[in-house]
Amino acid sequence: MSFIVVVGSSNTDMVITAPRIPAPGETILGGSFMVVPGGKGANQAVAAARLGAAVTFVARIGTDLFGDEALNQYAEDGINTQYIVRDCKAPSGIAMIMVDEKGENAISVASGANMHLTPADVDCAASVITTADVVVLQLEVPYETVQHTAAKAGRAGVPVILDPAPARKLGAELLQHVDYLTPNEVEAELLTGIQVIDDTTADQAAHRLLDAGVGTVIITLGPRGAWWATEKDSGLIPAEKVTAVDTTGAGDAFNGGLAVAIAEQWTLEKAIRFAGCTGALSVTELGAQSSLPVKAAVEALLN
Ligand code: ADP
Repeated sequence: MSFIVVVGSSNTDMVITAPRIPAPGETILGGSFMVVPGGKGANQAVAAARLGAAVTFVARIGTDLFGDEALNQYAEDGINTQYIVRDCKAPSGIAMIMVDEKGENAISVASGANMHLTPADVDCAASVITTADVVVLQLEVPYETVQHTAAKAGRAGVPVILDPAPARKLGAELLQHVDYLTPNEVEAELLTGIQVIDDTTADQAAHRLLDAGVGTVIITLGPRGAWWATEKDSGLIPAEKVTAVDTTGAGDAFNGGLAVAIAEQWTLEKAIRFAGCTGALSVTELGAQSSLPVKAAVEALLN
């Protein structure tokens, strides 16, 4: 069984589905509400666990009821929660998500305890990080913690996947330890200054990131699929055709799928197709974690 460590955020998502996303100052009636576990780190941990991997999640949550509920949920998905720290000073992370009829979303996050995840917390989990098949990171926890984790995994020869979301600039000190960088179009543009509008610009942006020290760049393109590039080669892996209901967490599903495929040492193209199928299935249902597919469903779509 492949062994994956995810270091990242845990949030509780408060999701309202409404005919459209309100403009500033506007109130819209007719929405429906649900509370679901979320956070990019948690979503990616759950995605990998549903796909059959042994997953350890390193995170910080509050001592509130949202934290209790999140822990229960992770345990239900079979995730090792031993390195999730309960923070007695900061509340659990909360995300307010609005989804419209077309599946588009607008999200506001109060990070709470996530922003108190320290390099020292990561050091407590050193034994699992340095023996993992792959370590997965995102940017909803402090940057220095992400960099510290990437360096630690990198020094141990453990492949590092970084989902550079939410979008922000990244230094060479971090990028040199990243084996797989998975920006979407918006993040790719912020990182490179190149607007990704087609295959040519995707390739240009990807090569800029390769030049910055990344091993493999995979730019996710929503319903178009994903553009990948290494020093040797590059290409487009088209997405599966599905009906999108809620695109929240598509990137997280993709990264969870990618982590499993990398851990199992599949070829890059097969890994990206598997990740893409995981992403595609996740948009066919509402919610970030609730919509994450099991391995059999992904394999059925893949074949
Ligand atoms: P993010 O959620 O980070 O913006 P994307 O929207 O690019 O990420 O989605 C990640 C991946 O999920 C895509 O590369 C694609 O493989 C898959 N995906 C996302 N949206 C769809 C869709 N509407 N149809 C099929 N696949 C999709």
